[in-house]
Amino acid sequence: MFERFLTGKTAIITGSNSGIGLGVAHRLAKAGADVVLNSFTDSEGDHQLARDMAAEHGVSVRYIKADMSKGDECRALIEKAGACDILVNNAGIQHVAAIPDFPTEKWDAIIAINLSSAFHTTAAALPMMRKAGWGRVINIASAHGLTASPFKSAYVAAKHGILGLSKVTGLETAREPITCNAICPGYVLTPLVESQIPDTMKKYDMGRDEVIEKILLERQPSKEFATTDQLGDTAVFLCSDAAAQITGTSISVDGGWTAL
Ligand code: NAD
Repeated sequence: MFERFLTGKTAIITGSNSGIGLGVAHRLAKAGADVVLNSFTDSEGDHQLARDMAAEHGVSVRYIKADMSKGDECRALIEKAGACDILVNNAGIQHVAAIPDFPTEKWDAIIAINLSSAFHTTAAALPMMRKAGWGRVINIASAHGLTASPFKSAYVAAKHGILGLSKVTGLETAREPITCNAICPGYVLTPLVESQIPDTMKKYDMGRDEVIEKILLERQPSKEFATTDQLGDTAVFLCSDAAAQITGTSISVDGGWTAL
């Protein structure tokens, strides 16, 4: 639908050596954008991902290590990239525990990585977008930005927070050719979700398929996972001219979860 219309633009996707971030990076590269991949590791595999993506889509792809739990590294990522037309704030972690048992260091890490990192990268990227005269900020939130579940206090707080940040960013850039929106996925079968399956199997004494159907997809009326390609294409749409007046809001890709 949007063949190569992002040629000449640079997209930075935080937390993109896996899962949704990697899927979004692929779709932006397919639409012609040069890509900066990121995570907190610096392995041969990370750099190989960048080489493979460049070869597949015929664009420039760099991998830049930066730990999104640290504000100065978030800002340094944008500075090192040297250009930022499209910023996708995607890095995220999860921890599940009741509030009295929730470790403080997990709370701090989730708020830092899932919420504060987007403040720091956006602060560093907006001046570059203003200079270039165009920009897109896309925050990967969650259905948990709009609804809550027990035992996910930090995650739900961070995701509600990032919807607020998306609104403020949209308002502060409303008179410019820059937009900011959040995408709210329901469940997507990525390593983050895979890692929750073994404990849930034990907790409910269920097999894998039963956990997926009865626990994970319980609130997703479509009874299907959203895919990383669908989220990537939603990000590509938000970069298009068709989305130029969509700002300060969120798009749910959740199989009907938040309609319940
Ligand atoms: P994932 O675990 O596959 O990917 C998370 C990414 O974040 C990885 O690339 C990881 O390396 C990176 N990351 C983690 N800590 C980091 C740090 N300190 N610095 C830099 N990078 C870091 O998970 P995912 O499911 O692809 O999640 C991506 C985003 O989508 C998260 O924000 C998550 O909350 C959100 N999300 C996921 C789902 C789902 O069902 N998978 C649903 C809604 C929202």
